[in-house]
Amino acid sequence: MLSVNNIETIYYGLLHALRGVSLNVKEGQIVTILGANGAGKSTLLKTIMGLLEDQPDKGTIKFQGELINGLDTERIVRQGISYVPEDREVFEELTVKENLLLGAYTVSNSSQVAQDLEKIFNHFPVLQERQKQWAGTLSGGEQQTLAISRAMMSRPKLLLLDEPSLGLSPLLVKEMFKIIKQINDLGTTIVLVEQNARMALALADFVMILENGRFVLEGSPEELAQDEDVKEFYLGVEKQDSIKGYKRYKRKKRWR
Ligand code: ATP
Repeated sequence: MLSVNNIETIYYGLLHALRGVSLNVKEGQIVTILGANGAGKSTLLKTIMGLLEDQPDKGTIKFQGELINGLDTERIVRQGISYVPEDREVFEELTVKENLLLGAYTVSNSSQVAQDLEKIFNHFPVLQERQKQWAGTLSGGEQQTLAISRAMMSRPKLLLLDEPSLGLSPLLVKEMFKIIKQINDLGTTIVLVEQNARMALALADFVMILENGRFVLEGSPEELAQDEDVKEFYLGVEKQDSIKGYKRYKRKKRWR
């Protein structure tokens, strides 16, 4: 469904954020991308969405067989991809309902918009109760629910989620992952960028690890859960071997 091939993204001609990244997402999957801060995860999603000022310097991005790099974001949304940024970016001084309607800006059929709004209100009664409230008055978890719901208003075939669990309490994180699973069960393919490896591994069909702008490891969640580095860096399982453990400790410190 989505085929990213050998993408390179360089900020200001200087900072090489993506160094030949390739990724294939099949219809119906949840693909999770794990990686430390600064690995390039958000840059990858923004590159796919055409949100960066510069086009990728190299490589291609195809969605359902059509080349989409070079298109503007609105056209990419019209093709069926939607995106929830890391900081949610709800419009705080617009109401909950206005935020949701903005998510449907590419949809011209008003009865479809009304139908989708009703579906979202049925699914998330809290958004219905607060539809006239400013979005800025919602809690973090509610704002994340709003951001995802807003992205769903364009009826995406593919949803890109950037760290939806960020800043949420453990209980809300669980809730958020449940919502993501439900959206996927209803037929939307998902690319999920996460730092919460445990939850992400539990949910994913396929996992990829990005380090310094390159994918360094990929596989099923079961395969990755067996990998020593993944265990140590992402799942917090400490190594017993002291020399190896010390080297890894030093590497880990550099990552922070
Ligand atoms: P995080 O989890 O902290 O969001 P990330 O894996 O999403 O990290 P990116 O935000 O994609 O990483 O950043 C990749 C690299 O690109 C980093 O070195 C970052 O400092 C740099 N970078 C990101 N955005 C910009 C920008 N707008 N201008 C210049 N450099 C940027």
